[in-house]
Amino acid sequence: MAGGKGTRLREITKDEIPKPMAPVAGKPILEWQIEHLREQGVTDIILCIGHLGRKIREHFGDGTGFGVRIQYVEEKTPLGTAGALSMLPPLLEEGPFFLAFGDVLFDIDLERMHRFHEKNNSLATLFAHPNSHPFDSDLLICDGEGRVLHFDSKHNTRDYWYHNCVNAGLYLMDRTVCEQVPKDTKVDLEKELLSGLISEGRAVFAYQSPEYVKDVGTVDRIRAAERELTSGYAARRNLKNKQKAIFLDRDGTINRKNDLIYSEEQFELEQNAAEAIREINRSGYLAIVVTNQPVVARGLCGIEDVESIHRKMETLLGREGAFVDAVFFCPHHPDKGYPEENPDYKIPCACRKPKTGMLQAAAERFNIDLSASWMVGDGTMDIQTGVNAGTHTALVLTGDAGKDGKYAVTPELIGDDLLAAVKGISRMTGSAI
Ligand SMILES: [Zn+2]
Repeated sequence: MAGGKGTRLREITKDEIPKPMAPVAGKPILEWQIEHLREQGVTDIILCIGHLGRKIREHFGDGTGFGVRIQYVEEKTPLGTAGALSMLPPLLEEGPFFLAFGDVLFDIDLERMHRFHEKNNSLATLFAHPNSHPFDSDLLICDGEGRVLHFDSKHNTRDYWYHNCVNAGLYLMDRTVCEQVPKDTKVDLEKELLSGLISEGRAVFAYQSPEYVKDVGTVDRIRAAERELTSGYAARRNLKNKQKAIFLDRDGTINRKNDLIYSEEQFELEQNAAEAIREINRSGYLAIVVTNQPVVARGLCGIEDVESIHRKMETLLGREGAFVDAVFFCPHHPDKGYPEENPDYKIPCACRKPKTGMLQAAAERFNIDLSASWMVGDGTMDIQTGVNAGTHTALVLTGDAGKDGKYAVTPELIGDDLLAAVKGISRMTGSAI
């Protein structure tokens, strides 16, 4: 979608080039996009052009010089964010297509997103990620499987706890979606087309990934992107490359340990937890929560309550500019025979720490090298989990402070709290925090 006018980029474009031709580290945004697509085998490209579109044609031609095949459709009048899709069907082949906006830079594993799209029989898949300011971002409201239930505009009053899940502006869509778009009509992608599909009960999914996707619609963002692209930061986050993570226990590590926590009112962050997680977010490590929640098996609450507690955690962290990349929890417990228990979850499982199921699942989803990762927690069970999974280990002196006596293990590092542990990891590994 290369028709944008880009008034906020006038300082760079001088109104002589269209927004997607704005240079980032000496190369137009659109050229970064096309090169990235070509590197991963996507070589059939359709550019929807409008304002100053001839400048785009002059630069790319039929794509031969860039190793791709380029076709053009042209908006005679601006058709909003989705109106141009009505012109695509005659040019599209069978199967889904990626849709990228001309002011969005990305470096992602396209095949991984495609597998997610296929697995869910999705009609439209939205690339989504957590950000450091969810409180003033449009959010995707999803179910536990990532199915989008509705959009929540940043202009709405939010009197509920929410999952930090922001639409990044990159999509994978079935070609039949285009057939729903009326010709020569201004259509908004989110408010009209996708919301319409959702209300019809069609499969619209959020693909939640920590990879680099950035809207560069302002001069400041372009300057930041130049640093992120040239330093290799953006490429390192591509899930084709091995990632490293800091796995975080929840109760006693991120939040105050008040006995068992089974309702959102009980959940309060530990003092420096948000700052610690903010540091992880800047460090190149993923922040992934792995927590045993036998409260479900004991019948104290349901899965939905645990998810609600996690939404509160994400909301509170988000208010302080911090986010976690994923949350894994084990609702099981192996010992049967208590009066209130929920027998569905009173089972032996592979995910309850110190077993490594949650870390293995995270490693598969995000291509994580466990041996380059850390497990951080307040209990000896967390340290044992790290040992079992082959990660480095760090103990925090909040919560149980390692005094539970369950496992005889020695952590590689001890911090007074999560922030001290994260700083310690930074010192030991020399990773930039
Ligand atoms: Zn489990």
